Amino acid sequence: STDKERANNVAKIKVVVRKRPLNKKEIAKKEEDIITIDSNSLTVHERKLKVDLTEYVEKHEFVFDAVLNEGVSNDNVYAETVEPVVPLIFQRTKATCFAYGQTGSGKTYTMQPLPLKASQDILRLMHHTYRNQGFQLNVSFFEIYGGKVFDLLNDRKKLFMREDGKQQVCIVGLQEYVVAKVETIKELIEKGNAARSTGTTGANEESSRSHAILQLCIKRSTDLTESKPARIVGKLSFIDLAGSERGADTTDNDKQTRIEGAEINKSLLALKECIRALDNDQGHIPFRGSKLTEVLRDSFVGDSRTVMISCISPSSGSCEHTLNTLRYADRVK
Ligand code: ADP
Ligand code: MG
Repeated sequence: STDKERANNVAKIKVVVRKRPLNKKEIAKKEEDIITIDSNSLTVHERKLKVDLTEYVEKHEFVFDAVLNEGVSNDNVYAETVEPVVPLIFQRTKATCFAYGQTGSGKTYTMQPLPLKASQDILRLMHHTYRNQGFQLNVSFFEIYGGKVFDLLNDRKKLFMREDGKQQVCIVGLQEYVVAKVETIKELIEKGNAARSTGTTGANEESSRSHAILQLCIKRSTDLTESKPARIVGKLSFIDLAGSERGADTTDNDKQTRIEGAEINKSLLALKECIRALDNDQGHIPFRGSKLTEVLRDSFVGDSRTVMISCISPSSGSCEHTLNTLRYADRVK
């Protein structure tokens, strides 16, 4: 069928890098843009000093499925990443889109518009192509912070996971909303964003230590009397990951920060291993490595698609973090 052909044409794993523009702070500090891009290859120009203190530049070249330069709009990011997988979730596919990168690299800026655009497309498909076929769109939004799950659409209620015998993991009591209008989704996303960890200092500080997970779940009820519960057909998950540099907070003086750092480090490593296992079609996928991967387990089994958007700052001051981000992305692709 054409649907099947289309599904086969969408890569199982796609790794995309997005470079943001230099910001005012970086410009004020006279930091330079050290990233050059040539179609889908990217070069980091790292300034180094020799023992005699003369300067030289070491170049690091990387190739990805796509490299999105600073002029690329959020609409283009959507077209390049999530748009192609949307029709597949009506065909039993589970798709997951991650934003990875250091704090301030543009993860949230990149991630926030995507679920809204995706749900627009999903609702359009439901109202036209799949009209009157019993499909419904469900939205949930939660956060993993310090290895614990909090419902962002239900007053940060702490939630627990349960596994049934069939490789299905469910978060018990997770609030799910059935939505039929884009406006409702927009309100739910805003509500969830407002509920994200912000800590006492306000700022971005705390949210950079949590993973935010928004899920669009397509369910279908074939029984028109609706006496049977609707069954999950496909799922599209959006994951705004914790700041990748937070995984290194394992020697901080503050004990809580160390614990959180260790958890983030563990989850980002486990995620990388799971995606790599998917790519090799290995039977065993190491979900149990972290809460994040356990929660995502059902998105990795069966027909799945993974999109990783690695966000980077162009600035010389972020060179080391940028190289770490690109190496991580390189291991996943
Ligand atoms: P993160 O979520 O990775 O910590 P943010 O998404 O909050 O980073 O981005 C940090 C700042 O940079 C924000 O003020 C955001 O608006 C800005 N920014 C990020 N990416 C871009 C971009 N591609 N174009 C313009 N501004 C951006
Ligand atoms: Mg953020």
